[in-house]
Amino acid sequence: MEALFRTAHDDGQERWVQSWARRVVRGERRMCFSMHMDVTERKRAEALLQQRQRIEQASREKSEFMARMSHELRTPMNAVLGFAQLLAQDPEHPPSARQRERLTHIADAGRAMMRLVDSLLVTARLEPGPATALEPRAAGELHVLCVEDNPVNLQLVRELLALRPRVRLRTAIDGASGIAAALAEPPDLLLLDLQLPDIDGLEVMRRLRADPSLAGCRIVALSADAMTDHVEAALAAGFDDYWTKPIQFERFLAGIDGLAAALGR
Ligand code: MN
Repeated sequence: MEALFRTAHDDGQERWVQSWARRVVRGERRMCFSMHMDVTERKRAEALLQQRQRIEQASREKSEFMARMSHELRTPMNAVLGFAQLLAQDPEHPPSARQRERLTHIADAGRAMMRLVDSLLVTARLEPGPATALEPRAAGELHVLCVEDNPVNLQLVRELLALRPRVRLRTAIDGASGIAAALAEPPDLLLLDLQLPDIDGLEVMRRLRADPSLAGCRIVALSADAMTDHVEAALAAGFDDYWTKPIQFERFLAGIDGLAAALGR
């Protein structure tokens, strides 16, 4: 027989005692052996461990929630900030002074919102990566494939790249068709959203990296996930670069121009 007791000492302190007892019959004699051990320290250590595990679990859940929130907020802000900037800079339909002022308000509010989002969590501050030295090819167009399931984000990329007449853009809206398009005609640059409806962007990158026909293709993650850990993991997994949403126009176009220059386009 075994039992665990919680006992109260005279000084009010709680102690735990574990007891074992055994009955022994020897001829006429009936005996009972018992042993009692103070296991308070062990109980305390167990309680501490459990508490630490609960805290760690809560902290993990909080980080995941924040990452999700950040992603959810950055995605629509990509459209708000991106299209406000495109409207302000539209050479075909330049906005009036009054419209320009209104667009400034939208952009200012959008940036204030982004500062709030960024202040909530550790996000990566990415500097434009230096263009790697690549074999110059025949002069011509820069061939870009963008894999993105969000139609508004895709439209923004399309309009941004339209500012560079020598870019030829193809698009795909999920991982499977993106892989098929990349293999059918390897692009110079693959802009890859990480959250795709069918295959995770990281997996898409891995599968394409495994194919020798894409050895010369630069693969850049384009994602609303700006958490430092996730960015570093993606770069370590094999992405050439990682551009966060909302898309920073200057950075985006500098990346395109840098690659075009490196390829001699
Ligand atoms: Mn997506």
